[in-house]
Formats: sequence, C-alpha cells, structure tokens
Amino acid sequence: LSDRLTSTFKNLRTRGRLSEADIDATVREIRRALLDADVAVPVVREFTAAVRERALSAEVSEALNPAQQVVKIVNEELVSILGGDQARGLTFAKTAPTVIMLAGLQGAGKTTLAGKLAKHLKDQGHTPLLVAADLQRPNAVTQLKVVGERAGATVYAPHPGVAGEDEVPTGDPVAVAVGGVATARSRQHDVVIIDTAGRLGVDAELMAQAREIREATQPDEVLFVIDAMIGQDAVATASAFLEGVDFTGVVMSKLDGDARGGAALSVARVTGRPILFASTGEKLEDFEPFHPDRMASRILDMGDVLTLIEQAEKAFDAEQAEKMAAKLQKGDDFTLDDFLVQMQAMRNMGSMKKMLGMLPGMGQMREALDSFDEREVDRVEAIVRSMTPAERANHRIINGSRRARIAKGAGTTTTAVNQLIERFEGAQKMMKQMARTGGGLPGMGALP
Ligand code: GDP
Ligand code: MG
Repeated sequence: LSDRLTSTFKNLRTRGRLSEADIDATVREIRRALLDADVAVPVVREFTAAVRERALSAEVSEALNPAQQVVKIVNEELVSILGGDQARGLTFAKTAPTVIMLAGLQGAGKTTLAGKLAKHLKDQGHTPLLVAADLQRPNAVTQLKVVGERAGATVYAPHPGVAGEDEVPTGDPVAVAVGGVATARSRQHDVVIIDTAGRLGVDAELMAQAREIREATQPDEVLFVIDAMIGQDAVATASAFLEGVDFTGVVMSKLDGDARGGAALSVARVTGRPILFASTGEKLEDFEPFHPDRMASRILDMGDVLTLIEQAEKAFDAEQAEKMAAKLQKGDDFTLDDFLVQMQAMRNMGSMKKMLGMLPGMGQMREALDSFDEREVDRVEAIVRSMTPAERANHRIINGSRRARIAKGAGTTTTAVNQLIERFEGAQKMMKQMARTGGGLPGMGALP
C-alpha cells in the first residue's frame, strides 16, 4: 500500500500549486489506504471529502511538493479526529472514590484491562479496588481475581458458599457493583474499577444490564473497550454501546496485532468520544496512553513520509532565516519594516532577560533590555503601520506634511514621529557599522 501511495506521489509535479487532478489522484489512494486499514466506509467517504476540500483551498507551501502537502493535510485531519495533540487522561471524582466502569463485547479485553488499569493507577499512588460484576461466565470472577493478584490490587467478588466478613451479594451484577463502590468508600480505596459481562454480539439484555450498573453506580468514567481487529463491525458495535449504555471514553485493545487500527478512526469519528488508552498485549505492562499521532501514521502506514515532510519544513525554515540574516548583514537594505520586526523580536526576548544575564558578556545586553519598554513597541508599530510602503522603504521621502499625516493616522504627535525616525536612523547607522565589522546581534539596533 505504502508503495502504491509513493508511486502516486512520484507522478505528481514536484512543486507549486495543488491541481485538482493531483489532489484527486492522491485522495483516491488515501481512500484505498483507509479501506485497507478497515476504516468504516461512511467514515472514509466523509474523511476524504474533507481532505479534498481542504487541499483545494490550501495555501501553497513552498517547503513541500504537492504530494507532501496532501499527506500533511491527511495526517493533520487524522490526528485531529483521533484526539489532537494529546490523549486525555482519566477524569477523577472530586470526592473519592472515582468509579470507572468497563463495557464492551465478550473477549474485547475488559478483564485484562481492569488489571492493567489497576496497575497503572497503583503506580501513580492510587489504591484501586477491582469489582467483579461479570457473573455471566463461570470463570469470569476467577479471572479477575488472578488479574488483581498480579496487579497487587484488592478484588471485590462474590464467593458463593463462603461465609466471611465480606458478605458479597451473589448472582446480581448490579448489587455486586453497588456493594463494590460502598466497600471502596468504607475501606478507603480511592478508585473503583467495575468489570462487567460481555456477549459475543450486541444484545438487548447485555445492554440493559450494563445500563443498570451505570445508573446504580454513577461512574465518573465508562470506558468502552474495543478490539482493534473488529474491522468493519466497529461502527455498529460502538454505536450500539453508545446508545445502550453511553460511554465517556474508548480503550483500543489488541493493538499489538496486525490490525492497522482503522477501527480507532471509525469509533472516534462516529461516537465523538476520546480514545484514552491503548492495550498492546496480554501482560499487565502492555498498556499505554493513546497517541493520536502514532495511530494516524499507523493507519496511513506512512511514518517515513511524515518524517520527510517534517525535515523538508525544517530545512525551509532554516533557509528563510539565513536569507533574513544575509539581508541584515548588508545594512543598506535596512528599512523601517525591518526596524519594526526587530522591535517585535526584542519584545519576545523580554522573557529571555534572566537567561541573558547569566551568560558571560551579556550584562550590557541585559541592561539594554531592562530599559526596554514593551509599550514602546506598540507605539512604534502604530506609527510604522501608518506609513505607506514607499515611506517604509525609504524614510527620506517623509517630509513635513507626510509626518503630520502619519502622526494623525497613528493617533500621536509629529514629535513622536520625528523621534521614531531619528531612532531609526541611528539603528540604520548601527546596522551599517555592524555589516562592515561583520556581525553583531540583530536586534541591537532597535535599542534606544
Ligand atoms: P473480556 O471478555 O472483555 O473481559 O476480555 P478478556 O480480558 O478476557 O480478554 C480476552 C482475550 O484477549 C484474553 O485471552 C486476553 O489475554 C486477550 N487480550 C486482552 N487484551 C489484549 C491485548 O491488548 N493484546 C492481546 N494480544 N491480547 C489481549
Ligand atoms: Mg471479562
């Protein structure tokens, strides 16, 4: 697949505006890539339409070729649907215990996740209590006990026939869940994780039970656990749980498998719920916060292309900076516009004051920065903005009547305009000197 995309990109022109044909060719391949990754068909359709529209109206980037530009847009859209820059963490209750309920089909990985979450929370100093509210399968309770022991977390579970101090209700998952929360409260567990039953397919009874547990325990988080390998069924399953139980977040499980993870995109898009965690194996440690950017490049299978794009943009930025430096070196070209840019740079450097003071030989620079008035930048900016491009390029043409006009436009006096021009001339002289002696810090010229 990656090869196919790469060859499509080779056929595109190397630089310049994105043509409709270029975009359509690329979008076709993106569509195929998403379908290969098992993203739901309607999601693919909607997604590619959005990408196409954005690409058509995209500003032409000089740093990237058309193919790279389209991929960049695709990647940004993917990351944004998958949750943006950063996955959100768990929401904790204001007053303990925080209640986390797990929901999902049988085999999705809920019980395994319960153990992983417990370990994760314990590592962060919490005291989780695991609650076995899956009474459907005979060995479900035992499985949670094993997992809890591995995680070093207490498990609240019915144990029929055994009378003990923990009188746990048997047979009724809702009662067990409620009893678990009460126990957490009395035994100082600050988080409760409720494991629930699943079915192989969506069914009404399962939904009703999960909803009852939800209503009875009022969880702070209901996490919908979904197997990444579920493929095209992701949308139907996620929608059924959203409607039947409702959930606050998603956990993708079995991301260690071959699945490219299109289900993540489908679920995020269709439910609008954030994906919080990724489960990546059978062991307790195989668990991590969900990374939208990593998932996006996995779905597209284009990590290398994305790295190339990043490098191309960085190289371009460096090129621009060099051009600017070369221009300043010449001194002659130093205009009022450049002067303004310098002033603005100085404002940004204000926060560097402390750091500069710590560097050898920077004491003088620091003194200058100390006497630098930030409001001055605004005043200079207002005056320079009131000048015509011709005036900014050559300040010598600014005669008396022009000064009066500029002052009026900037809401200031002609004296202030005169002062500014004087300062600018000083700065210009300094830039020329620096150009002759070769170097110096750009920005120095703007100082009073
Ligand atoms: P539940 O029915 O939703 O509670 O699912 P389980 O937690 O019992 O998991 C079902 C099966 O999937 C078990 O064999 C787990 O070991 C396995 N499993 C769960 N999570 C993962 C995962 O992230 N990766 C892999 N490879 N297997 C997993
Ligand atoms: Mg289970």
